[in-house]
Amino acid sequence: MEKTLSYETPKEHYVADACVVWCYDDRFSGLLGALTKDLKNYDLVKVAGGAKALAGDPSPERNFVLGQITTSLRLHGTKRVVLMLHRDCGAYGGSKQFADPDAEAAFFKDQLAAARDFLKGEVGDLPVDAYFADFDGLFLLS
Ligand SMILES: [Zn+2]
Repeated sequence: MEKTLSYETPKEHYVADACVVWCYDDRFSGLLGALTKDLKNYDLVKVAGGAKALAGDPSPERNFVLGQITTSLRLHGTKRVVLMLHRDCGAYGGSKQFADPDAEAAFFKDQLAAARDFLKGEVGDLPVDAYFADFDGLFLLS
């Protein structure tokens, strides 16, 4: 193999402040950076739809995302999980699927609650924070 880039990657293992499940829609990458700017280390599961698979029925996708999270916990002693869904997500068909912006936000609130409830049943006492990402900020599910 030919070295194409020189870069010093730290060799030390770490404890992850969070495992973040985020949609790969790059419009929300800046928001991810703002959310994680004060974290020392975090594991990122960046997949289409973010936490969508965790809100649904049993599926290979749900098993995959859950496996990524439990592997983060096992390898990095992860302290909490962050789940994200966002407005105008292509994995859900986009905003055009909803009658109006409030209906869309209400739908995602229910999806986030379902994803969080499922995950809490799998990871016990670990904190799980569920966020709705909008174009003007980030909203934590209470
Ligand atoms: Zn998306």
